[in-house]
Amino acid sequence: MGFINAIHKLSTEMNEKSYISPFLQDLNTNKTKFLEVFIEVDRLELPMKPLKLSGIALIELDDEPCEQQREKYLYKPLSGNVSWQYSPVFPTGSELCKKGIAPLEKIISKIRKKVFEDLEKQKLFTENAAEKIENLLFDAKETIDSTIDKNFKTTIIFGIEHKGKRYLPGELDSFRGYFNNKIQNDFKRLNNSTNCSLCLKEVQKVTNLSKIFKFATFDKLGFLPGLSSKSQLKVFPICEQCYRNLMYARRRIQTSFTNFYVIPSSDPFVEMWIIPEVLFLNSSSKKITKAVVIKNFEAYLHNNACMREKRMFDALQKQDATLNFHFLFIEKQQAKEGLMQVIEDVSPSHLKKIQSLWEKNSKKFTNSGSVLLDTCFSFLRLVYINDSESKRSVNTESKFRTQKAVELIAKLLRGERINTNGLKKEFVSRFPKIMHSGNYKTVINNQFRFIEFLEDYNREGTI
Ligand SMILES: [Zn+2]
Repeated sequence: MGFINAIHKLSTEMNEKSYISPFLQDLNTNKTKFLEVFIEVDRLELPMKPLKLSGIALIELDDEPCEQQREKYLYKPLSGNVSWQYSPVFPTGSELCKKGIAPLEKIISKIRKKVFEDLEKQKLFTENAAEKIENLLFDAKETIDSTIDKNFKTTIIFGIEHKGKRYLPGELDSFRGYFNNKIQNDFKRLNNSTNCSLCLKEVQKVTNLSKIFKFATFDKLGFLPGLSSKSQLKVFPICEQCYRNLMYARRRIQTSFTNFYVIPSSDPFVEMWIIPEVLFLNSSSKKITKAVVIKNFEAYLHNNACMREKRMFDALQKQDATLNFHFLFIEKQQAKEGLMQVIEDVSPSHLKKIQSLWEKNSKKFTNSGSVLLDTCFSFLRLVYINDSESKRSVNTESKFRTQKAVELIAKLLRGERINTNGLKKEFVSRFPKIMHSGNYKTVINNQFRFIEFLEDYNREGTI
């Protein structure tokens, strides 16, 4: 449970503008352009009657997402086959990159069904507005088609125009209220009150952890360490305030504490979350709160470019004993999120110990090899996953081996013993294949180095 409490604590500095702010997500700007379309309406009071389209223009958003951007567009991604969106923002992905007008016609019908029918039903627009907007879009399809850039993905953002003034969804209370109503659907009203699992407040309106973390499906034993009975796992009610806190914390992890290089992968890709937790305060100054320590650590990671330069573990082992880390390895494929490993309470001194063992190993085997723990983990991963020196030779076994490599790194982080006999057997079984490769000497030497390192670790690095 330690890591969920640590995630919850990342929200102590939360100073969000409104109830819905913690739920707002950044739009994906990667190879994407944004088509803004404004719907002119008769009045701003609800329900609004659409009159015509205006301001059809393609824009690019800043790569560096910011609060202002989030507040304007009210974006929250949705998975599954749903017939509504949190706001009139519709990512079409690469659908509109295809040639001809047919893909656009298809998207227009989809937008009617997935965006405007529900907005009409919820009385933001007048009756038949969805059909009217669909017709307006069809009438403008040539203009839209010539505006979009087929070399990029397109996300369509609908705004409202009234008396010459244009409003984006986040600038109108009606759309903010609509978003909030959709969030309210995440809660269940219980007949009897219960205590929130995080703040212990007595509440009747609760939600479930899987609304925040899709991997929290409770069907995996050991997901919540310390709890093992299935019936207990299902019970983890969260109050409204803690729901907001966790959503805010999740976004903060995504922007500041997520790493992709420890296990480079694609579809499914593996993310590593690093959740810092302040154990105690080292300073007598009242201004230094636990939240300030986390903020300083966050700034340290950014300013030192540790993440970018792939030496984050080096930065972590330099921290003092006031901080501890929790690590989560998460496998993502489309909307699915699976939890591969949770490692709780890793101290900087434990990381330092592994790094010094790696340094010893580097000096023994190489003249100029990097002594950083980050290099150690990428070395272990590469040797374990690949049977040759070439990074390209990823074979069909690689998914299974990726899982095993994550397991191995998790054991090292936990300070658990590693069975080197099993690994030796596995390496030997790979020999026939390796012997046919051009660089078998290097590959086998690396396997030998790998085992030596783990044996040193078993002797000196385990907890
Ligand atoms: Zn709570």
